[in-house]
Amino acid sequence: MITGKALGWFTLRSLDDRQALAQLNELQKQIPLLYALLSVNSVALAYTHAEVAPAWMTVWIPAFLVLASLYRLVTWAMRPQIVTDPSHAVRVMQRTILLGSVMAIAYIAWSLGMNQYGGEREHAHVAIFIAITVIGCIFCLMHLPQAALAVTALVTIPYLLFYVTRSDPIYTAIGLNIVLVTLVMTRVLLNSFQGFTQLIRTQRETERLNREVTVLAHTDQVTGLPNRRHFFSELDRINTQELLPGQAWAIGVIDLDRFKAANDTYGHLVGDQVLQMVGQRLRELFEPHEMVARLGGDEFAFLIRADGPMATERADRVCSLLATPMQIGGHLVSIGASCGLATTNEVQGPARALYDSADYALYAAKSENRGSSMLFSADHEQRIRFHRRLEEALQSADLDQEISIHLQPIVHVRTGRIVCLEALARWTNADLGPVAPDTFIPLAERMGLINRLTLLLLGKTLEAASLLPPDMRISFNLSGHDLVSSQTVLAIIALVQKSAVNPRNLVFELTETAVVRDLAIAEQSIGALHALGAEIALDDFGTGQSSLSYLHRFPIDKVKLDRSFLAGVEQAGGCKLLEAVIGLCHSMGIACVAEGVETQDQLLFLQNIACDYYQGYVFARPMPLDAVTSLLERKDHQLLQA
Ligand code: C2E
Ligand code: CA
Ligand code: CA
Repeated sequence: MITGKALGWFTLRSLDDRQALAQLNELQKQIPLLYALLSVNSVALAYTHAEVAPAWMTVWIPAFLVLASLYRLVTWAMRPQIVTDPSHAVRVMQRTILLGSVMAIAYIAWSLGMNQYGGEREHAHVAIFIAITVIGCIFCLMHLPQAALAVTALVTIPYLLFYVTRSDPIYTAIGLNIVLVTLVMTRVLLNSFQGFTQLIRTQRETERLNREVTVLAHTDQVTGLPNRRHFFSELDRINTQELLPGQAWAIGVIDLDRFKAANDTYGHLVGDQVLQMVGQRLRELFEPHEMVARLGGDEFAFLIRADGPMATERADRVCSLLATPMQIGGHLVSIGASCGLATTNEVQGPARALYDSADYALYAAKSENRGSSMLFSADHEQRIRFHRRLEEALQSADLDQEISIHLQPIVHVRTGRIVCLEALARWTNADLGPVAPDTFIPLAERMGLINRLTLLLLGKTLEAASLLPPDMRISFNLSGHDLVSSQTVLAIIALVQKSAVNPRNLVFELTETAVVRDLAIAEQSIGALHALGAEIALDDFGTGQSSLSYLHRFPIDKVKLDRSFLAGVEQAGGCKLLEAVIGLCHSMGIACVAEGVETQDQLLFLQNIACDYYQGYVFARPMPLDAVTSLLERKDHQLLQA
């Protein structure tokens, strides 16, 4: 067993590929030196014996040995520097062991033969020749210990026997000394070779770990799909210049609808399973060579060779497959997906531009036709350009000068009295003219300007409030970005406390989406604003998906019913829904404000179902402060006269 192993080691049969290549590459640097050393040593020995030995010993044999050595030197020096075939490397090294052994026998036979001639000095040179040659060999063959050991054994054993049998104590001592040194050298060689082997092993292990880490770093842990990093490195690799006419690359960016609601309602475990199922379904729709990845959260993307119509067809299949309800952990989870598409036919420029365009198309799909796909078009391009102009204008605007507030009355349904004024932001830019808040507020949110803008608007609102009758309430809109920034919430509180306005006259309007951003932080912020004495109103109620739960969770005093409720009033079902919602709010002690009341009929209807307050064009549009003041005076006058 052990001899089998030793034989395997000696004949290099058990050598692994990487080690074989590493050994040969190292050997390649040393072996030519070894042959050079042998040639020089042989010439030196032949020279010192030229006078005392016959010509065949001092000319012909050494000439043959030197020629053979030089021939080997040249063949080694001319080998390709980097060998990549491991079995070739093993064959070369096996040949080296064999040839090394033959050369060792030839050299020792020749040098011991030389010992027959000459006197003490010549004999001493033979001893030195053998010693330095064998030690040189050991060093040069450091990366092929099998050859080094073979050469050492084939030289030192006959050498020792030769000297011992001469029964001359000095020669015996020299022989033993050289053998001892050789043994120590062999040990040193084996130690260093072990270190070399260990190094190769460590390198191999490091490479394996690197490979594993790379795979991990490119894989999404939940779905097993490629992750964002992988997707973008693949995207960066595609070369649009290489496309032939008629060929195109398409990117689809997929966003799940209602995933957050499912995650909140059923918990993260179910949420993860939903994502896994989405990953599975996406894998079914794409070929293995096509890229489909999870970019993070509930966002997925694909990168395929397709033009607009082909990509649209694929994206529509994605949307319809993901809309099929999933049976997960006893729940039937129904999510959906919207998809934005862009292809290299519509979008020029770097590959990343393709992603940005698809992302924009996704945004358009979500706001115009949720649950479907949309291909990026020239119209989108134009809208983006307009948005860019807006962005630039907003960035460089003197906000303090250009931004103002308008106030819109909120009226008590029964008495017709103005009880509150909602502050609505207005922006008039010198180049762009008036820009609607629906446009610039989301833009400011995306640009990270909203917190500053909110504080500026609140300052103006508080200033206006101080000029109004002392019992007049004022309602102020907060963005979701304000609620998640504790710094902004603290600044809001400080501004209110510093002002002359009684916090009890203030109402903060929050939208559901604002609250959903981060429930825990929103809860804290809302608690702090409520503790200040201000009222909290839930704005745009009815446009989101799961607002009812918030009525329990947060200290909400008022609900503002979205305009869309009134649009449904004309239909029988719409009436019932509005009535039910108002009834539910009242049962929790929450007052209701109907928004967007435009007609007398709608107002009449609200009176019938006991809605508390209303706001809308039927009473008054949003207007500047001075218009509000004169309106208030007029109304007071009318009420006094009545
Ligand atoms: P919102 O908070 O729901 O504000 C009510 C919007 O409905 C206002 O639009 C108002 O002018 C409009 N409105 C009022 N009565 C009627 C009506 O009878 N019919 C119709 N069709 N519309 C009516 P506005 O001023 O354009 O504001 C749009 C949105 O921009 C606001 O919706 C709010 O979400 C946001 N916004 C406005 N000002 C601010 C602000 O200071 N801060 C924040 N964060 N958002 C603001
Ligand atoms: Ca509002
Ligand atoms: Ca609203």
